[in-house]
Amino acid sequence: MSLFDKFKEVTRKVSEVESNIYHEKHDYLEIYERNLELEKKIAERTEELNDANKRMLTLQHIWDMMNSSTPLENVLEAIVNSTQGELGYMHCAIIRKYEDEKGVYLQILAQSNDSLIDRLNNMIGGTGIQTRRLNFDNDSVFADTMRQRTIIQTRDIDLSLKAVLPELSNETIKKINSNQPVKSVIVVPLITQNKEFGWFCVFSSREELASAEMDFLGLFAKQIEMAITIADLFQAVRDQAVTDSLTGLYNRRYFEESLEKEVQRAKRQNQPFSIIGIDLDFLKKINDTYGHGYGDLAIKTIAEVLKSNARSVDVAARMGGEEFNVLLPGISSEGAMVAAERIRKSIENTEIETVGHITGSLGVATFFEHSENIEELLELTDQAMYTSKREGRNRVTLAKPISETSWQEIAVNTFIDILSKNRLPIAKNISKDLYKKLTSPIKKDELTKDSLFNVADILAKMYNPMHSSGIVKNKVIMAVSLAKRFDLPKEDIDNLRVAVLLYDIGNLLLPQDLLQKATPLSEEEKEQIRNHPVIAARKILQPISYIQDVLPIIEHHHENWDGSGYPNHMSKEEIPLTSQIILIIDQYFALIEPRAYRPKMSARSALEVIKADAGKKWNNNLVKEFISLIEHDIV
Ligand code: GH3
Ligand code: MG
Repeated sequence: MSLFDKFKEVTRKVSEVESNIYHEKHDYLEIYERNLELEKKIAERTEELNDANKRMLTLQHIWDMMNSSTPLENVLEAIVNSTQGELGYMHCAIIRKYEDEKGVYLQILAQSNDSLIDRLNNMIGGTGIQTRRLNFDNDSVFADTMRQRTIIQTRDIDLSLKAVLPELSNETIKKINSNQPVKSVIVVPLITQNKEFGWFCVFSSREELASAEMDFLGLFAKQIEMAITIADLFQAVRDQAVTDSLTGLYNRRYFEESLEKEVQRAKRQNQPFSIIGIDLDFLKKINDTYGHGYGDLAIKTIAEVLKSNARSVDVAARMGGEEFNVLLPGISSEGAMVAAERIRKSIENTEIETVGHITGSLGVATFFEHSENIEELLELTDQAMYTSKREGRNRVTLAKPISETSWQEIAVNTFIDILSKNRLPIAKNISKDLYKKLTSPIKKDELTKDSLFNVADILAKMYNPMHSSGIVKNKVIMAVSLAKRFDLPKEDIDNLRVAVLLYDIGNLLLPQDLLQKATPLSEEEKEQIRNHPVIAARKILQPISYIQDVLPIIEHHHENWDGSGYPNHMSKEEIPLTSQIILIIDQYFALIEPRAYRPKMSARSALEVIKADAGKKWNNNLVKEFISLIEHDIV
């Protein structure tokens, strides 16, 4: 081969290699690009899957809530918040359509917590949009979706907002939608049980929504519809239920309805009826010793006893927990006592597996004979039942008309009522202890005076740690001596005794640090100390029907003789004398007891302070009698 040929051969090979390289490079680039494309697709798919996963989880969460009898409003709140937060919308709301005599209107049932709604609420002021009666506009996107029963997406944010809040100005709308503008609103109609319910409304920062997203919102709306339907069905079932599931006895609601009907019948036919109240003795001990299951068994046993003892017209009900009532139409107290005694015996005689024998405490009250007021009658039944507890349990007590009840019993019953109904903001275990003190068996002649003063002292110590035991008793003794000097009738004196035990109970509702402040109080704090206790006392005591005559004494124990007191600026004889007695005794004891901000005073100096206010805080005569009473003690 010539050199030239060799050269040609080499050149050809070089260009062949070159061409191969070129082709491979091309292939390589193609593959590289294809890879990039694929990676992008994978990323997109992953994101879609992530989204789908999020949506599934959200749906799952809502489904779980629906299965766990969570209240509907909480389910709806969760739906809007998870749609907004997890799926990245600007705002979500569920709106309900209502109609009344004034026409059709809308109300927001649930709305997501976000900056958009905060801005809107700030703009419109008041309590915000959720509490408003919103406008329904027949030409709005809302009406359209309902007519067509389809999802509609609109970019006209202003119009959609104005449809529900026509009073909004364009400027306000602009401000609401300022920094993070909403680009579209998606309105999904909600239809439950073939009736128009309202809308699921989504505010998005995007103009377009992928069709998959629309489908998803449709699916979401179905969840909402289902949650609403289930809640409605639950409610309907609950409304229809008249029996208690553990015992099969009637429930509280049915008992109360029957009682109301019975009152009507009793009045019409002038015939009495009676109520027997039953509470299991020492159920807590049974629970603690044998377990809750046996506690339940004890409850069921009582229920069976009640069922087998009831006539067909009687209504035996479980009022809740371990409390039962039986309504006996047409039966006077005499008959009811016989029935109650029969029940008591058969509870005592029924043997319960493992537990052995249990007992119950019963109370009986009769309409007409004890009261003609339902609430009072139920209270009297309770009180009689508590008396059974106090006098040793496993017994029946007939209610006493209030007029024949001693002041100690009224006071004890008041404390029991307050404690058993948790009307005081004190720890449950303390409340239980005090309750036990008041219901623990005592010798009848001693009645409960000592435990009564003891409980009042303990309560006083809670708002005033410097309160010393025995003070309450001394206050009562002194108040009575003073009242007797003015020849007050027995009834007033009894009310006064109960008032002395209760007049400061409202302090328990005041903030602790306020009462024990060592530094001078601000005007605002003084105002709070002045008004609050009386208001609180009323709140705590008002529901107790049999101490209504005691309430005014308490309410006016800060009124001054010259009209400078509170809350009503009463003066002179307008003020009940019993309230004046409490005022002077309260002041006296405050002075001779130490306080966070000063040491205690001697009796003599305290009297000087009181004397200085004669004619101002209290009338001269009262001061005179008071001083003579105390001086009698001092010498
Ligand atoms: P007393 O004789 O003073 O009535 O004592 P007690 O232990 O029965 O009363 P207390 O009021 O101290 O406690 C009532 C207990 O009843 C506390 C509560 O756990 C229990 N209880 C209430 N409802 C039920 C229930 O449905 N099942 C069970 N097992 N226990 C219940
Ligand atoms: Mg009990």
